[in-house]
Amino acid sequence: MILDEFIQYRDVKHGGEFQRLHVKCREVAYIASILSKTLFNEQLNVTSIFRKKTTDSGIHEQFRAIDFKPLSKEEYTYRLIEMINLIYTYDPKRPNLKVAAENPYHGTGQHIHIQVHDNTTGLSPDRIEYFKLLAKNDAFKFKP
Ligand SMILES: [Zn+2]
Repeated sequence: MILDEFIQYRDVKHGGEFQRLHVKCREVAYIASILSKTLFNEQLNVTSIFRKKTTDSGIHEQFRAIDFKPLSKEEYTYRLIEMINLIYTYDPKRPNLKVAAENPYHGTGQHIHIQVHDNTTGLSPDRIEYFKLLAKNDAFKFKP
């Protein structure tokens, strides 16, 4: 499938782990990879999927999160994160939580962290209108 060609795995084990991901996490990863390829001509590189819970939330242990290498330019990384969060809502009841971590410099080493919840939702009609408006005005507020 062509979508898989947009996602590269650092480690062979990531291929199997990817198939075990929460179905919504796989969906977000595919959309993110399409955005990255079409907008920046860059493939997404998986750096981590499954991790035993240590000091983090344990979301990776539950196969609800995936980490990617940052893109070649900070601007691209921030734009991709912003677009994912414009499309997806992690949990409508907890708007402070995001699908894509807003700060790629959190934790150890910079990365793009994507996470989902059973309640994660994609584009609603009002979000589509908002998205179109932003795109038309080039008003994305990313800060490299
Ligand atoms: Zn992560």
